[in-house]
Amino acid sequence: MTREVPDSCPGVLRLHQAADGPLARIRVPGGRVEPAQLQALAEAATELGDGNIELTSRGNLQLRQVRDAGELTRRLEAAGLLPSHSHERVRNIVASPLAGRVGGLLDVHPLVPLLDNGLQGVARLAELPGRVLFTLDDGRGDISGLGGDIGVHAVGADEFALVLAGGDSGIRISAADAVDIMLAAAHGFLDLSAGAWRLREVANGVAGVIDHLGLSPSAEPLAFAAAQAPPIGWLAQDDGLVSLGAGVRLGSLPARLAEFLAAIERSLFVTPWRSLVIPDLAEGVAEQVVRVLAPMGLIFDANSPWLLVSACAGQPGCAKSLTDVRADVAAAVESGRVTEREHWSGCARHCGRPRGQVTDVTATTDGYRVDRL
Ligand code: SF4
Repeated sequence: MTREVPDSCPGVLRLHQAADGPLARIRVPGGRVEPAQLQALAEAATELGDGNIELTSRGNLQLRQVRDAGELTRRLEAAGLLPSHSHERVRNIVASPLAGRVGGLLDVHPLVPLLDNGLQGVARLAELPGRVLFTLDDGRGDISGLGGDIGVHAVGADEFALVLAGGDSGIRISAADAVDIMLAAAHGFLDLSAGAWRLREVANGVAGVIDHLGLSPSAEPLAFAAAQAPPIGWLAQDDGLVSLGAGVRLGSLPARLAEFLAAIERSLFVTPWRSLVIPDLAEGVAEQVVRVLAPMGLIFDANSPWLLVSACAGQPGCAKSLTDVRADVAAAVESGRVTEREHWSGCARHCGRPRGQVTDVTATTDGYRVDRL
């Protein structure tokens, strides 16, 4: 497929003009956010935005209704959240949030800054479309099923499967070579892309990238399933500490709650399921975090109906929406009407629909239509 226009993914320097005002998307490679960065984001959301920090399906962050783009840029640069102007929109890297702490074959987090720096270090790679997604899976299978473009999936303590266009290429590479090979694959994609936004849109794209790399498949390809459930609640780490998986209602984190999270003084991870992982807590601290933050709305109960629902922006954020979808889905959850996985949309485009089995609840001029799968 050849695209006539470049992708329009928003960033900090290129805001999306949503119906409710300018929207900024902030890349956080590997989903990792430091406490001071979270505090800066909370203050920016309060003083320059609508008071919330949105979590995206790629583990990035968004601020809505941005009132002063220049001031936001200045603050994010000061917080280390905008290290490059030229490459800001290509830093789309998701990684297994629990890697190195709970299970998994290989800790992929150290690869994130290496890949990020590698992307930023090559001028040509700024030409990658903002849609291209790099995936790093520690072997548990939570990330490779997200349908990324270029990635690695651990198959041993020092070996990865090379993932291209969301599938196992059958190529096996060492951990030491993983970043260089992903960067080379990105160059291969650019050689072939002819305006395409995603590798899967390029005819024979996977074969072309493999040819560019000069590598040969050597293993039976693995099948990757879409992971549906985020890690929630008390997660015992291999080192005796605790990670807390926390759901966020409709992926929208109020700035006040973000300030409390920053006060825990731990790096935390934004997951591609619009939730959070707060790692490296002593048991007593973890108990205290749950006691304080659960009443404020963070979800530590894996059976919460809030974890079953997702929704598009709806009104007032989207001019196409027929209704305030988020208010409607909140009412449905609070009245106990949600018992299965549902995605609510303000029109038939179904933006933000998660992968895998999900019932579509779509606004129409005659009310909501429910399409069960
Ligand atoms: S699904 Fe429709 S209403 Fe919802 S954000 Fe997308 S275009 Fe807007």
